[in-house]
Amino acid sequence: MEISREWQLSERPPVDGYCEQCGFNYDTGDLQGTVTLLIRQSADCSMALTKAAAGPDQSVVRLRPEPEVWSAIEYACHVRDVLEVQRLRIAQCLAEDRPVYAPMDRTGRVKQEKYETQDPAEVAAALVRNAREFGAAARVLQPHELGKLGLYNYPVRAPRTLGWIIRHTAHEIQHHRHDIIEILAKVEPPIVPKPKPEPAPEDESAEGPQDGAEGPATAGPAAAGPAADGPAAGGPAGGGSAEVGEGVSVD
Ligand SMILES: [Zn+2]
Repeated sequence: MEISREWQLSERPPVDGYCEQCGFNYDTGDLQGTVTLLIRQSADCSMALTKAAAGPDQSVVRLRPEPEVWSAIEYACHVRDVLEVQRLRIAQCLAEDRPVYAPMDRTGRVKQEKYETQDPAEVAAALVRNAREFGAAARVLQPHELGKLGLYNYPVRAPRTLGWIIRHTAHEIQHHRHDIIEILAKVEPPIVPKPKPEPAPEDESAEGPQDGAEGPATAGPAAAGPAADGPAAGGPAGGGSAEVGEGVSVD
């Protein structure tokens, strides 16, 4: 366990600067641009899940590429819940003098909320809805509000500004968008293109090879490996579960 934990800590994506795994940069982009990116990438997550669930084998969304790596539906449920938790944290930060955020218990939720059995269409819809609601709460923040501090649990217990929470949430979405697409590319069955009986005169209408997954999106590095993170240091007891597939975390 200890070795695994050490490894996980060393592999944990950054919470400042540039993330080499997904390309997110905490130092670029203004508030509006960051929120726009978050909403767009949430839609990408939603679409990837929907598309895979509508494919020849719906169960692919529930397949873990490795025992310790979450499935696409588990990641999508996580992203959906992160967006809600972070929106509530914005409200808490604005309402309280010295906000202390409760951990979201990301690993506990996987089992408690039965992520693997949830309906892909409902998850996809809720994910997009939560992203819009988060965006609406974030877009209206004023500069003095963005600088307000709250005690955050990840990766270590530390005061963080609301502005950082917005960026960290955007990183979370971008990182997991990358995970979801990559996992689906691994587990989806290859679709064998139907042989064309005759070369059709109008190529436009021909059934093209329909890639099931989003394809090798960007030539991104392999981040879907067991880039797990255990319970964050300073976080809650966390149940000691080492099971995870997350890269970033919001706890
Ligand atoms: Zn990242």
